[in-house]
Amino acid sequence: GKDHAAKAALFGIQQGSLDKEIRAASAEALIEIGFDGYAIGGLAVGEGQEAMFDVLDYAPGQLPADKPRYLMGVGKPDDLVGAVERGVDMFDCVLPSRSGRNGQAFTTRGALNIRNAKFAEDLAPLDEDCSCSVCTNHSRAYLHHLIRAKEILGAMLMTEHNIAYYQTLMAGMRGAIVEGSFADFAKNFRTAYLNP
Ligand SMILES: [Zn+2]
Repeated sequence: GKDHAAKAALFGIQQGSLDKEIRAASAEALIEIGFDGYAIGGLAVGEGQEAMFDVLDYAPGQLPADKPRYLMGVGKPDDLVGAVERGVDMFDCVLPSRSGRNGQAFTTRGALNIRNAKFAEDLAPLDEDCSCSVCTNHSRAYLHHLIRAKEILGAMLMTEHNIAYYQTLMAGMRGAIVEGSFADFAKNFRTAYLNP
């Protein structure tokens, strides 16, 4: 409805697992009610990226293009790029913070685990292409030490970088869409991220 739009946005959640017809029926019923935005539910529950992308090849198209389409609980950086490519506008996910706490950093050249012994004396930043305060001020070696020593500051700094990385990735995708260069953006992202 429209009455609550000033204070909050109410989203309807499309269900239907991996079934195109059930998702179509679900979308139709939601559209009849009318929402501020539409979520794509029932994915990112263990089906794998290929099966998820198969659904995303049609699910966003079953929902109104003039309302935000939100993919729930996704995901890894390459999941986000592939989902935006297929028409998704919004995400939520614990991954940047949960992975950060566990020592995993997302970088332009793929994910890395800072606990790995090879980072013990590595004075480079987590991500050379990242301008966040963690990458500006701290080395991989320091973060390796903090995480290994179970210092809470390690979890905080790793999380801060990961959130900055995700924000930069999403801003990059928005900019590329505005410029009409999303295909190039996605290609360059995959070249660097998946084949570092
Ligand atoms: Zn950073």
